[in-house]
Amino acid sequence: MLELAERMSRLGTDSAFEVLSKAKALEAKGRSIIHLGIGQPDFPPPGHVIEAACKAMRDGHNGYTPSAGILPLREAVAADLYRRHKVTVSPEAVQVTPGGKVVILFATLMFGEPGAEILYPNPGFFTYESAIAFTGAKPVAYPLREENRFSFDAEDVLARITPRTRLLIINSPANPTGGVVPKAEMDKLAAGLAKFPKVAVLSDEIYSRILYDGCEHVCMLGYEHLRDRVILLDGWSKTYAMTGWRLGYGVWPKALIPKADGLAINCHSCVNAAAQYGGIAALEGPQDSVAAMVAEFDRRRTTIVAGINRIPGLRCLAPGGAFYVFPNIGGTGLGSREIEAKLLNEAGVAAVSGASFGAFGEGYLRLSYANSLDNIEEALRRIAACLETKGSLAAGATA
Ligand code: PLP
Repeated sequence: MLELAERMSRLGTDSAFEVLSKAKALEAKGRSIIHLGIGQPDFPPPGHVIEAACKAMRDGHNGYTPSAGILPLREAVAADLYRRHKVTVSPEAVQVTPGGKVVILFATLMFGEPGAEILYPNPGFFTYESAIAFTGAKPVAYPLREENRFSFDAEDVLARITPRTRLLIINSPANPTGGVVPKAEMDKLAAGLAKFPKVAVLSDEIYSRILYDGCEHVCMLGYEHLRDRVILLDGWSKTYAMTGWRLGYGVWPKALIPKADGLAINCHSCVNAAAQYGGIAALEGPQDSVAAMVAEFDRRRTTIVAGINRIPGLRCLAPGGAFYVFPNIGGTGLGSREIEAKLLNEAGVAAVSGASFGAFGEGYLRLSYANSLDNIEEALRRIAACLETKGSLAAGATA
């Protein structure tokens, strides 16, 4: 009998991938499935980015690079952060990682251990709770509520800080809700954190460029008094539709740079060299593909929100960012895992139960609208038909 470390039993998993594999199994049996489960843009990366990566390989960039990334890429990230948020970071603080997700694991490994507490959003990206628990620290959830448009309440977050709290994770725009934290609330949180100088902040800003209805993105690095304890996570996966390239970055406070380097050197050594050259082209080249992608997401968002709100039993806010909607399913009388299974098996629509993103996600469903308008319209027809079948709505339930 193999004896595994106890921590292995504390790792969670990404339900979107589980839904995907169930959906693929149904497709293999000939069923038609519309995929609104997985969270990745359905566009190709910009052509000039692909060219830059191919050229890098032909030019001989096939070896290891410095662990934190090639300098021109780290400089390009620093310049991009200045352009977008008017924050000045030194290229040495930028660590290029194989996907933004790595920054979550590194930050939790740095602060988490038995006896420590780490605060995270709930419902939230599954990795937060999983990685915190893996380190042995106690995951302390703070709720994101529909009545707050899935933003946090700064006072509620601050009230959960104890002498054992070492790290606070925030995510705006958010997965799975699409919620965007308004600047006034972020200001309140930042001001309140001044009273807790030992609490570091991991700000996951991976959806920072996917915003609608004039919503504003607030970069946590903009709060000068927190600069020595904010870790920024961003990357190329969502903005440039490069999820499979595995290219992301963290910006670390000065004291943590050698620690982050140590983790990278022990883990992945460095990121694929060609992908890094593609990353420079993405940041320095034309940005029209980003604007076109966001405009297309916006059209789909309008369609899916309106369509869901026409279905009895469902109620959906228009999210301010990312590419997910998170409808309230309370009026259907179904639990969120039940509705996930029902939609997949009976309607051929892959979506992810809200409960997969934490206890406060129960009563909701996540649909990703990274799919064509035609498919979204067909999915809406299927969901409506499936939920309208006799007996599926709880007697008397309304949205
Ligand atoms: N953070 C959030 C909130 C995400 O939704 C994702 C991916 O789904 C990531 C981080 C990780 O992105 P990457 O693919 O760059 O690792």
